[in-house]
Amino acid sequence: MSKLQIYNSLTRKKETFAPINPPHVGLYVCGPTVYSNVHLGNVRTFSSFDMIYRYLIFCGYKVRYVRNITDAGHLTNEQGEGVNRMESQAKLELLEPMEIVQKYTVGFHQICQLFNLLPPNIEPTATGHIIEQIEMIEELLKNGLAYEINGSVYFDVTKYNQNKHPYGILSGRNIEELIAGYRDLDGQNEKRNSIDFALWKAASPEHIMQWRSPWGMGFPGWHLECSVMSTKYLGETFDIHGGGMDLKFPHHECEIAQNIGTYGKQPANIWMHTNMLNFNGQKMSKSFGNSILPIEMITGNHPLLDKGYSPMAIKFLFLQSHYSSELDINIKGLQDAEKGLKRLMDARSHIEKLTAKGTTISDIDQQIESLANACKSNMDDDFNTAKTIATLFDLATIINSLKDGIINNNQLHSDSLQLLKTVFNGYLIDVFGLKPMEENTNKILDDVMNVIIQLRKEAKDKKDFMTSDKIRNELQAKGIQLKDEKKWRHHLVYLTQMMH
Ligand code: AMP
Ligand code: ZN
Repeated sequence: MSKLQIYNSLTRKKETFAPINPPHVGLYVCGPTVYSNVHLGNVRTFSSFDMIYRYLIFCGYKVRYVRNITDAGHLTNEQGEGVNRMESQAKLELLEPMEIVQKYTVGFHQICQLFNLLPPNIEPTATGHIIEQIEMIEELLKNGLAYEINGSVYFDVTKYNQNKHPYGILSGRNIEELIAGYRDLDGQNEKRNSIDFALWKAASPEHIMQWRSPWGMGFPGWHLECSVMSTKYLGETFDIHGGGMDLKFPHHECEIAQNIGTYGKQPANIWMHTNMLNFNGQKMSKSFGNSILPIEMITGNHPLLDKGYSPMAIKFLFLQSHYSSELDINIKGLQDAEKGLKRLMDARSHIEKLTAKGTTISDIDQQIESLANACKSNMDDDFNTAKTIATLFDLATIINSLKDGIINNNQLHSDSLQLLKTVFNGYLIDVFGLKPMEENTNKILDDVMNVIIQLRKEAKDKKDFMTSDKIRNELQAKGIQLKDEKKWRHHLVYLTQMMH
């Protein structure tokens, strides 16, 4: 039996997974910053960790999955400008910062549901852990690794680095290069060194989100919340810490420095980084203006798209590449994913209709067994979903041949039939979190919608505009547009999925 191997970004090699306290596993993943809608790139990262979480459960581990909500403003945006994202958005939308937090947290949860992502066991918020963040800063000050200036507190990177703790251990950067290349963006030149990062920032009076601290009114630095919340719920050292590749530096590097500075040890044994979703060859990002919202994908309401794609087809596209590879999104990929998913889901439903009459172990039985084992060893090889899907396609070919009588059912043993069921349900449904019922729901809805469209057409033909307008308006009130028949279906799919 193979053993789970995971690529550890910290050691830069694949390692055999050995949890600290088996069968328990502590998994921490950096969650979303809730100042805007999550885009499809964010969804890819959270889908990757959902698959990882699900596979660990599938392997029999008892996982405590912690994923935070960043609801206190970041200090810098992706261009490095000093902004408080929650507050800027609040001003833009004329809402309270906490209304922004609530609005986008709810939106994030709805997207997770649509993509069938399991909720974490704990979903702590940065604003709910201000006291613990202040306590960690006090520890760092006591350990001589932080300094206060004008009501702000900074982490002293050079001092930390002198204490035998290389800063840059995760991202492979060296401190001299970092100092040379750094622009001082959030320190207003008050830091001792440009690479020092904020643990606490003094707030000006007009700043809305601020808290009392031993250093005056202010707010915590972004990196601190993850150090505090991961160790609070998973211990000073836990099994896996994850996030998107773009968080490796500075976010995770700073987290490591904060944890070592406070507790003298690395927070996580394994650091996992998932790769980016690109669009037009560039990382999908709100600030690059190339982000696509999940809802745009589902409704087909985007210039890139020929039609809407179901969340499951989108997720299947993600799973067809390894979590650590970059993925470019395009129509061809989406169309292929839609077809591929249908082929596997169809094969899964055909299994139910197969009968097994084999009395001895045939070649087919052996092939099924070895392909089933391959699924496990592919997943054990650093969660290779792409290879696992390819193996499921091979199994689907056997299933189709059995269904069509190309392979006789006296070559199929009942144990193999059972194994087919276990593999398809186990990997497609449990590990990949793909939902089969969508197809049926769509079929019924398609039929109902066709009846409604026909009734409206008849009303229009009879010049009964009162009825035809009533049908259009009432559907519109439910978010379904009839004027463009290409799109109504996807509005409908979206609505029905929101209800599940
Ligand atoms: P944020 O809300 O910006 O902190 O991002 C939430 C998560 O999404 C982080 O783990 C990011 O690394 C990840 N992320 C951001 N952009 C992309 C992208 N284009 N592709 C994949 N993951 C992304
Ligand atoms: Zn984080």
